[in-house]
Amino acid sequence: MSRPDIPFPQSPVLPTMVEGTHVIQFSCHKGIGCWNACCSNIDISLTPYDVLRMKSRLGITSTEFLKNYTVPYEMDKDSIAGVKLRPVEEGTACRFMKPEGCGIYEDRPTACRYYPVALLSMRKQDEYVDRDSYAIVKEDHCKGHNEPRSITINDYRQEQGLPEYDELARGWRQLVLKKQSSGPSIGKPTLRSRQLFFMACYDIDRFREFVGAESFNKLFDLPQAEKEALLADDVALLQFAFRFLRQVLFGEESIALNSEAAQERLTKVQEKRLIEEREAAKRRAEEGEGDIAEDD
Ligand code: SF4
Ligand code: SF4
Repeated sequence: MSRPDIPFPQSPVLPTMVEGTHVIQFSCHKGIGCWNACCSNIDISLTPYDVLRMKSRLGITSTEFLKNYTVPYEMDKDSIAGVKLRPVEEGTACRFMKPEGCGIYEDRPTACRYYPVALLSMRKQDEYVDRDSYAIVKEDHCKGHNEPRSITINDYRQEQGLPEYDELARGWRQLVLKKQSSGPSIGKPTLRSRQLFFMACYDIDRFREFVGAESFNKLFDLPQAEKEALLADDVALLQFAFRFLRQVLFGEESIALNSEAAQERLTKVQEKRLIEEREAAKRRAEEGEGDIAEDD
């Protein structure tokens, strides 16, 4: 099965987009002739909330989960990272596939829940709202399309528990879409920013250590009670991670810097501006000299 890389529209599946009110004919149930065919050949991108659910289900840290159950990939030309579910060694099947079905059914990823529907979140350049559309994926091996059940995509999403999954990954989708739709003014994120993106989105346990560290305290003025509440709750911490990344990647400051760090930052900005002005003046002077030499 090639599941589309939601939410990225450059998926190899070129879909017709439909709204949530669109009715599909589909049912998947034990006993169907193609049972588990879709889980035997996987290409599944994970959202940060998927990672959180699966690592909790397995009772391991996000760092262990990423190392043992995923492979990283580049989501765009600027090397923003995504993670995919890693199949069995030397095979293509999902490691959670059991003869009776999904071994982590209650915590299965977003893409597995959506199938055979794909969510396509889009955002036009300079627009602040993202729009959700859907596409239907029809693969020959999937017999679910022949089953006599009609259901709207909206109802199918409810049935599959998707509103919660989509809501808790929305901040991540918005970050990715904003990065992809932003013009050259945003530029390529630095290596440090890309590392922060990976940690904050997918490695929530390392992000927790990062937020709890003294160096974070020195930089950000986060009230102690708010910080303790975040550190005790994975889901709240993940939402804070998205907020933190908006600040890191796009300068949307919503987390106050402490006054010393703010002053340091202001000084750095002023120094940078001074250097740029000097360089521009030097360039102008050199161009002026060039013009005089040509006149000679
Ligand atoms: S996580 Fe579950 S539903 Fe998804 S591919 Fe693996 S076995 Fe199938
Ligand atoms: S009906 Fe489709 S989704 Fe269900 S088991 Fe068969 S191939 Fe997988």
